Amino acid sequence: MILIVGGAGYIGSHVNKELNKRGYETVVFDNLSYGHEDFVKWGVFERGDLGNIEEIREVFSKYSIEAVMHFAAFTYVGESVEDPQKYYLNNLRNTLNLLQVMLEFEVKKFVFSSTCATYGNPIEIPITEDHPQNPINPYGKGKFMVEKVLEDYSRAYDLRYASLRYFNAAGADPEGEVGELHDPETHLIPLILDAAAGKRDDIKIFGTDYDTHDGTCVRDYIHVTDLADAHIRALEYLKNGGASEFFNLGNGNGFSVREVIDVSREVTGKPIKAVEDERRPGDPPVLVGSSKKAQEILGWKPEYANIRKIVETAWKWHQKIE
Ligand code: UDP
Repeated sequence: MILIVGGAGYIGSHVNKELNKRGYETVVFDNLSYGHEDFVKWGVFERGDLGNIEEIREVFSKYSIEAVMHFAAFTYVGESVEDPQKYYLNNLRNTLNLLQVMLEFEVKKFVFSSTCATYGNPIEIPITEDHPQNPINPYGKGKFMVEKVLEDYSRAYDLRYASLRYFNAAGADPEGEVGELHDPETHLIPLILDAAAGKRDDIKIFGTDYDTHDGTCVRDYIHVTDLADAHIRALEYLKNGGASEFFNLGNGNGFSVREVIDVSREVTGKPIKAVEDERRPGDPPVLVGSSKKAQEILGWKPEYANIRKIVETAWKWHQKIE
């Protein structure tokens, strides 16, 4: 069985769906601090907390676990600056707990949710895997530290991992069974759709004086179903004896905040009021990744690389949760 830690969350639930579609058996382990039990529509669910090592051991004793995919992490960059301990305990220490139990039970295949935030402010675009890593906030630093731990564990204990550095995960399962549901929501696309649905008055554009083609920040939005596909390819790569690797998962295309708002107006048919606002601290002007390595080694090809498709699936889901 494949253990999906954090499988009740946004990305984990999409991976769980895709794994089951392809005939894998899964166990979801989640403490539901941010996840949603009704997102666990496939496999079995074990509620538990990575902070409690005995609860992790129980799951490994109960099921025959072949590999682990780890999505359970806090992801609010601003909060990580205000309360770094919360982030290091959950994202770093709890990952060490999970790895400890994996080694005890000799489970040695690990797919890890990493992030483009491990690169910090990019010095070259598109960002490749060998771009220097200088994370600028505790969220990015915690993920970076786990990557360093993985390098050492891989050398010493024969653990093999694929560390997947996501760019901006967006969109929803095209069948609308699971989707993005954060509380609080801080991400651009769901907030724009809240404005389209009349749940908020407007969308604030954080900064209009960046050195980009229209002055607003450019991001690489990658569809969550494409992310799910990459995880399964990474798992299969490890099952086939592949060596430990880091992979960027982005689609190589950047879209500005204004472009995302314009596309959302077209997709939803709603006017969506945009209000120009101050820059949000810590936002690099452009984050676009090269995923050439994942394409070459994993044979991965994003299917929803088009921002319109991403917003369309997100809107379909968004209308369902109203
Ligand atoms: N953004 C914005 N208004 C919002 C939320 C986000 O202008 O209400 C901008 C944000 O400054 C960034 C981009 O949209 O440039 C994507 O932000 P998001 O929080 O979705 O993802 P991040 O890039 O921070 O991971």
